[in-house]
Amino acid sequence: MTGSAERRLDDSQLVRTALRIDDPGSVAGYTRDRSDPTQAPQIVAEYDLTPPGGRRSSPEGPWFWCSHCQKENHWRGLLVGGAEGRRHSIGHECAAAHYGFSYASAAKAFADELKRKGALARLGRIIASAPSIETGIASILKSEGLKALDLKRQEIQQASPPMAALLSAAALSDAALVEDVTVPDPEAEAKFTRREGSRPERPFTKVERRSLGRLQGAWLLRTQDDCRDRLLMLRRAMTAAVELDLLDTNSASTSRIVAVVRGVEQAHVSAREALRGARSVAEFFHHENVVRMSRWSESKPWAIRRTQGGLAIGDRDGRASLVAALIPIEVSELPPIAE
Ligand SMILES: [Zn+2]
Repeated sequence: MTGSAERRLDDSQLVRTALRIDDPGSVAGYTRDRSDPTQAPQIVAEYDLTPPGGRRSSPEGPWFWCSHCQKENHWRGLLVGGAEGRRHSIGHECAAAHYGFSYASAAKAFADELKRKGALARLGRIIASAPSIETGIASILKSEGLKALDLKRQEIQQASPPMAALLSAAALSDAALVEDVTVPDPEAEAKFTRREGSRPERPFTKVERRSLGRLQGAWLLRTQDDCRDRLLMLRRAMTAAVELDLLDTNSASTSRIVAVVRGVEQAHVSAREALRGARSVAEFFHHENVVRMSRWSESKPWAIRRTQGGLAIGDRDGRASLVAALIPIEVSELPPIAE
């Protein structure tokens, strides 16, 4: 855990400071002198001046000055802070050789700075996008499209609670629906014939489980982790990011900032996936899908049939509830997190 006391830069400095630079020679305090190897190094930036094509296209260099080698010798290296604000450029491997053991802790501190700076930049983009994303969430949550989806889901649940529960389970697992088909079993029959010396009286059969493919428009019947849940999850994640930003990030560990940022980014991806799912719920009523559910329901205590304009959910007593097909619903896109 990197406490603020150990950090070279506070977060507002870190956000403004370039850690990867492409003109190390122009940095204030730059010197070609060799740095003092008895002083623990502090890495202030890194550079990679490798030309396009690398060594293949530039076998003779020119390379960049290395204060350890005292000549132009590498393309990649570190800018190291010395006494009185001096800055020395040094190749990575030369830094390790020159400074010995203390180089490892300097390299780790610098890697932490890079990681924290990256997380702060991502947090900044999230904070900048927060108002438009919140507006988007609020507008989608009360949209006519989601209302139509909720009503249709309720209608199916009321038509047959056990069927709705089974289809919801299939929708949640995203697994294929299956049907059990009774087929001849010539192998078992041959085995019997060999053992008994005569053919069985009745042909042997077995039950084969066949895939009918995945449920289309499955988000219609997702009762957990649905579109609304995911939008609310994104809202909670955004609130955590806004609070972290308001409370001053300096007191938060880098791993905490990374976790909050990642929480928002993942919730945003999940919410967009759910919105795509919501836009496709009308596919639940497509011919192919109704046929699929109808065959699947043959082994269930109730049946699904295709009807004019929708489907009928029945029980074996012949009672049937009609559910009209849903017309495609409109659900807006969620605003992106700023690039
Ligand atoms: Zn060197």
